[in-house]
Amino acid sequence: MLFSAKLINWYQKNQRNFPWRETKNPYFIWLSEIILQQTKTEQGLPYYIRFIEKYPTITDLANADEMSILKLWQGLGYYSRARNLHYSAKYIVNELHSVFPKNYKELLKLKGVGDYTASAVASICYNEKTAVVDGNVYRVLARYFDMDIAINSGKGIKDFKLLAQELLPKSNYGLYNQAIMDFGATVCTPKRTKCTTCIFNDSCLALQKKKIHVLPVKIRKIKIKKRYFNYFVFLDKSNNTLINIRLGKGIWQNLYEFPLYESTKEIFEIDESLFPKNIIKKNILSVDLFNEKIIQHKLSHQHIFTKFWLVKLDVNLVGSIPFYKIEEYPISTLVHNFYTTFIKLI
Ligand code: SF4
Repeated sequence: MLFSAKLINWYQKNQRNFPWRETKNPYFIWLSEIILQQTKTEQGLPYYIRFIEKYPTITDLANADEMSILKLWQGLGYYSRARNLHYSAKYIVNELHSVFPKNYKELLKLKGVGDYTASAVASICYNEKTAVVDGNVYRVLARYFDMDIAINSGKGIKDFKLLAQELLPKSNYGLYNQAIMDFGATVCTPKRTKCTTCIFNDSCLALQKKKIHVLPVKIRKIKIKKRYFNYFVFLDKSNNTLINIRLGKGIWQNLYEFPLYESTKEIFEIDESLFPKNIIKKNILSVDLFNEKIIQHKLSHQHIFTKFWLVKLDVNLVGSIPFYKIEEYPISTLVHNFYTTFIKLI
């Protein structure tokens, strides 16, 4: 039996049920694919449900304000995905008269949509003959065919896409794409690979050559950057605090946070001249470090080390908000975790 036929056969018996599998509406499929990038299905599922409930159509998403979208996205990370979703929704509604792009080439024009997402939406919704290559597909193909070219090298990306394209069946492209991704997610997994019951265990090269744990090959390119965040949590006479929107490109853009001082290394004392200008020295009652142990927040390309400095004041601050209201703003998981711990103490 052909590789693709075997996979489709396996999928029809073993597929997992998710709400996005019950529709071919490109808006829902696109939304699910963006949510599931760099996110486990179990984690992404409640977000998908909340998004389609709150924004059942592309027009609803386009008309929403960014703050509400970021708030709904809170906890998923990689917030540029949410901003790109919003940008693309507005583009589809305003420039394309609410008609969702209908093929791979047009889908690629959406912000935040690359080869993988365009192939997924085009094949699932329009049965276009274009193969998806995500982390699961790389793993299955690298192992089954013993491909040891790095999956993140220029040549690797090209070779794997070509192979994936050649393996497509004569029809049912969307079904096949979903099958191979599901197979990678549940059988040919990174760890505890289920080779004993695998449908390919009589022909898989990695299994024969005992190379499962070394495939796929990836070049470590990213140099992890260390950053040191010092958040100033001001607390005035009425338990109000200051928060700002984080502007500029980069991590957590447009999310809210406490006034921040980023240092080049860990610091153990705070110089009051670093505080915002409206904080007058004589009004400061105390400055204390809240977390004795520095908090590490690991992201793919940077590790953030954070200290929250609690600054009590004997006045009421202009431009402040009640501390408990922070939850109404889109905030990072780091700030959210601090908030949930600290709110119990005041
Ligand atoms: S035999 Fe093992 S390594 Fe090979 S495709 Fe199946 S699960 Fe993956």
